[in-house]
Amino acid sequence: MVSYDISHLRVDRKSRAKIPANDIPYRPAEERLNDFEEAFHLYDLDTIKVEASRCIICRAPQPCVEACPLHNNIPLALWHMSQGEIIEGIRVFHQTSGFSEICGRVCPQERLCEGACVIGKLRDPVHIGMLEASAATYERETVGYPEPPQVAPTGQKVAVIGSGPAGLLVAERLAKLGHSITVYEAWPNPGGLLVYGIPNFKLDKEIPRYKIRYLEEKLGVKFVCNTRICAEGNPTLDDLIEEYDAVFLGTGAEIDASMRVPGEDLPGVYHATEYLVKLNLPPEMLPPGMREKPQVEGKRVAVIGGGDTAMDCLRTSLRMKAKEVTCVYRRSEVEMPAGLKDKHLAEEEGAHFEYLTVPTKFIPGEDGRVAAMECIRMRLGEPDESGRRRPIPIEGTEFTIDVDLVVLAIGYWPDPIFKKTEPWLECDKWGLIKVDPETGETSREGLYAGGDNVNGPDLVVTALAGARKAAEAMAEYLEKKRTGR
Ligand SMILES: Cc1cc2nc3c(=O)[nH]c(=O)nc-3n(C[C@H](O)[C@H](O)[C@H](O)COP(=O)(O)OP(=O)(O)OC[C@H]3O[C@@H](n4cnc5c(N)ncnc54)[C@H](O)[C@@H]3O)c2cc1C
Repeated sequence: MVSYDISHLRVDRKSRAKIPANDIPYRPAEERLNDFEEAFHLYDLDTIKVEASRCIICRAPQPCVEACPLHNNIPLALWHMSQGEIIEGIRVFHQTSGFSEICGRVCPQERLCEGACVIGKLRDPVHIGMLEASAATYERETVGYPEPPQVAPTGQKVAVIGSGPAGLLVAERLAKLGHSITVYEAWPNPGGLLVYGIPNFKLDKEIPRYKIRYLEEKLGVKFVCNTRICAEGNPTLDDLIEEYDAVFLGTGAEIDASMRVPGEDLPGVYHATEYLVKLNLPPEMLPPGMREKPQVEGKRVAVIGGGDTAMDCLRTSLRMKAKEVTCVYRRSEVEMPAGLKDKHLAEEEGAHFEYLTVPTKFIPGEDGRVAAMECIRMRLGEPDESGRRRPIPIEGTEFTIDVDLVVLAIGYWPDPIFKKTEPWLECDKWGLIKVDPETGETSREGLYAGGDNVNGPDLVVTALAGARKAAEAMAEYLEKKRTGR
């Protein structure tokens, strides 16, 4: 049980509120454009201590804890760090997360913990994300993760389908209780979008790899890759439900959405996933048919969309030495779903932004490859079901942009394969799996789901939060099944 009681801490809040912020140590844009290494340096130990001392350790309710989907006990963790107890601090995060090294780097903190920080009402909020990332990396590089508890094997077997953050969290939590875990993964390597999506300049691939090695070596988790459950020749969900005591679906939402405009299939028009994995991963990590890299150097690249994926495509193109890189987004800057820090970094690295614009047609050149796109300007109408103002085309504003390469980063859908092969699995009209929101249990007993396949394409931290609920409910279910109580 996690305790949020911090009443025993003696805090000089007035002095703490006056400590100046420590900037995030970003590498200069011109330097980071020459490699795919992380775009920032981490805080050193002294800076961790000083920045953590800016937290005034609010009495309950603590807005940062409320705003974190995992409800990390941020004030207590930062208290330890401010005392120079870095490992103790990060281990407070582990009680609720275990993925601090990742969340510290990729969470849109300005919308979550830092957006709620009381200090942020007066000046820069406490840089919670950078503290979490820096302390967690320090832990991994010095002492490593804590040794898992020694528990007797339960003799029960669990199948996890998908090895993104949701699947990894369920595998870790249930393996620590003594269950035998097998993770099935469609890609050649485990990690989900942490590996086959988010580029190295945002999240060093060594971080998910370390987690996966820890699961294999310390917890005996077995990964079976190149195995897409329900595809021809592979086990079905029914097979796994039959063979295992419980099954978790952490299959994400990774099918690229289409624009349904003429010319979308022209050579030179890519979907974001294909573009990112081909340019960010070595060929041996890709299936044989996906190993040819797009030629980007010297090209005029247009990226369509305004989310995190679009920002990653812009920044990847810039690192591949594109001549011009433009983001084309149908709403205005205010509605852009991308995290603020990624958008600023993309701008700093040289990306241009065309707001309130949408392509209506991709036009081929003489060689048959995309050479231009016809666009139309938009205006904003009333809010739609997402709460954002609906973009409406302005007649007569059509214009053409010359391009050599287009990347469509306009959203994702869940894989429809389960709907086809397992029609009994209850899904909504978008193909998202219906679950009990408190337990993650699906319409079938013993089958649980969590992450993007339930939420729709969202965030690492929300996938973890859904998976944690499911892992807790699965633990109870397995115990009842074993003991009959
Ligand atoms: C380019 C990009 C950048 C992003 N940037 C950020 C960011 O900065 N911050 C942030 O918080 N979030 C970001 N996200 C979103 C984040 O990555 C996802 O919300 C998160 O990874 C979802 O976790 P998940 O475990 O539900 O699914 P995923 O990470 O998608 O993992 C699902 C796994 O299941 C596997 N799978 C699917 N079907 C099957 C099957 N039938 N059999 C076996 N395996 C299967 C898939 O191959 C995949 O490996 C980004 C996403 C993308 C695409």
